[in-house]
Amino acid sequence: MAGYFDTGIEFLKGVGPQKAALLNKELAIFNYGDLLQHYPFRHEDRTQFYKISEVNDELPFVQIKGVLRAVEVLGAARKQRLRAYLMDETGEIELVWFKAVQWMHKSLKTGIPYVVFGKATKFGSKYNIAHPEIEVLTPSHDQKGYLQPVYHSTEKLKYKFLDSKALSKLQKTLLTLSKDKIPETLPVEIIAHFKLISKRDAILQIHFPSSSQDLAKAQHRLKFEELFYIQLRLLKLKLTRQEKFRGIVFKEAALLTKFYNEHLPFELTNAQKKVIREIYADMKSGKQMNRLLQGDVGSGKTIVAFICMMIVIDGGRQVTMMAPTEILANQHYDGLKPFADDMGLEIALLTGSSKKKERNTIHEHLESGKLNILIGTHALLEDKVQFHELGLAIVDEQHRFGVAQRSKLWQKNRTTYPHMLVMTATPIPRTLAMTVYGDLDVSIIDELPAGRKPIQTVHRYDSNRLKVNGFMKEQIAEGRQIYVVYPLIKESEKLDLKDLMDGYESVCRAFPEVPISILHGKMKSDAKDYEMQRFIKGETKIMVATTVIEVGVNVPNASVMIVENAERFGLAQLHQLRGRVGRGADQSYCILMSSFKLSKEARTRLGTMVRTNNGFEIADVDLKLRGPGDVSGTQQSGVTDLIIADLGKDGELLQVARTAVIALLDKDPQLESAENAMIKRQVDRQKKSAINWSRIS
Ligand code: ADP
Ligand code: MG
Repeated sequence: MAGYFDTGIEFLKGVGPQKAALLNKELAIFNYGDLLQHYPFRHEDRTQFYKISEVNDELPFVQIKGVLRAVEVLGAARKQRLRAYLMDETGEIELVWFKAVQWMHKSLKTGIPYVVFGKATKFGSKYNIAHPEIEVLTPSHDQKGYLQPVYHSTEKLKYKFLDSKALSKLQKTLLTLSKDKIPETLPVEIIAHFKLISKRDAILQIHFPSSSQDLAKAQHRLKFEELFYIQLRLLKLKLTRQEKFRGIVFKEAALLTKFYNEHLPFELTNAQKKVIREIYADMKSGKQMNRLLQGDVGSGKTIVAFICMMIVIDGGRQVTMMAPTEILANQHYDGLKPFADDMGLEIALLTGSSKKKERNTIHEHLESGKLNILIGTHALLEDKVQFHELGLAIVDEQHRFGVAQRSKLWQKNRTTYPHMLVMTATPIPRTLAMTVYGDLDVSIIDELPAGRKPIQTVHRYDSNRLKVNGFMKEQIAEGRQIYVVYPLIKESEKLDLKDLMDGYESVCRAFPEVPISILHGKMKSDAKDYEMQRFIKGETKIMVATTVIEVGVNVPNASVMIVENAERFGLAQLHQLRGRVGRGADQSYCILMSSFKLSKEARTRLGTMVRTNNGFEIADVDLKLRGPGDVSGTQQSGVTDLIIADLGKDGELLQVARTAVIALLDKDPQLESAENAMIKRQVDRQKKSAINWSRIS
């Protein structure tokens, strides 16, 4: 159904084919609807004028009324620039242009009043404004309360005179034509219940607000709508899946009882018990389970995973667990093998470095059903890996995997979909979880096993190195082990590797008597394994490493984590790294090393780490600092490409929208009723445009 708003943008007065092509390419604006959805990213208050004497470079921008005293072209040929002198009754300021010099020179006139708008910078003792907006003063400039929209544009567009100002003109033209054609996209009940303004008013006010209150109402309405439809899509997806795919029913739990009675190595925490109950309820229900298990590092997810495995194996099915790195897969295997042995179950490990012969045996036993548990890396996803009957697939540290890989695992079974448990130690702020994992149920282990002492975290400058070394010596004397971690960031890998090697050497010099391991991503996997094993066995006391140890590594006797160049790590990474210690009974420490020179953001990150051990709090700070696009694991999901809502700021509204959607689907899961016809249309429309998008990009 092609409607009015599908009209190609080239048909709008003032656009034409050339500009249309640019708008397509640069801003993905193809039609009228796209243009209206290109909302301004801020508004400038053009109600206030500064006197030239009040101008300073603290102000983000200034607007001045004045008269040009003189306009002159300076320099020759390519280095030409234009300088104009603007005066008011309090003083004079310079305006400068480096581009379009001739053109500006012709258009500027001395002796008449102008309005100038731009950012003032101090140059020597004088202020100047480079490339200001400049217009002849008109009565409309004195109109009160005028908020001018500012639109994203690009260099290429600006070059073709499609800057923010020009885009604003196009919006005006289009709105004049079409404002009475803008359809409502939310049902009246919802609009009334949440006291929203109409779509028409929202669109008008978001571009050209009559006051800041009206602007806020428009933003609120549009954000609500956006979040509402995202939640609707996700929750409907979940419903459909539950209806379509009857999960495998597991009721028997004799194995589990045996494990509990005879082999459980410790009392489970209440949080672990709660989570196991939630998972068990899913498995008994006949619905296919899709659950996200969140638990901070060290909260004991592995045993929970094993217990789930027992339930499934009891039901005669196989289980698999995929980890993002070989080290981690190895460690899971080592951790689970004793349990499996106790229970008389067959367990195997499949990674990139599994030998051909091993592989063949694994494939064979997997297909015959003899193998109960298969642990591995991406190698699990290969087509050759065929299960007899897969009942449960567990993905550890999901944020390292793409969504595509998750679904590939999902399809490993021929008849029914296996239950799916996604585990993550990266605390995801609630708001993000609700969007990125909005189609999953969520269980949270929010308690650490008893007896753990909170990790003490400090920030030290490099100049304190000797003291830190002294502390390390004491800890080693007490029998503890220590990690020293260096950043390794892809683009500058060579340089970072040199950092690591230099660091290793200086640690060796400082601790000549102490056996030291080194671990980095460039090492062969048996060498890595060998070093890791030496450290696990306590043969080496210090492990100098890159972030390869970030994920999941578990050495309870290691109680000190030293992070070098800590300012170069993100918060999520720092938190993961810190999680490598505090796993045993001893007091653990995390020392963040940095130079004096720190950006404001780096200070906030380090300060946050020192202040709190709470992963969720850290994740929230991270989301606020970086925005959702950068929080790990969300890039591939696409749901964070929001037009107007901001997951970092609009958490509450998201919750409201989600609750509204749940209520709606409770009453009308298929959206069949007449009053929901509009919602259904909107959902179908979204589906269509989603398809278009994937074709374009
Ligand atoms: P993570 O959630 O980070 O994967 P692990 O499963 O590796 O955590 O558990 C961390 C450590 O805590 C392991 O050494 C594990 O044996 C231990 N552990 C787990 N649950 C408990 C518990 N209920 N009581 C005592 N120790 C536990
Ligand atoms: Mg783990």
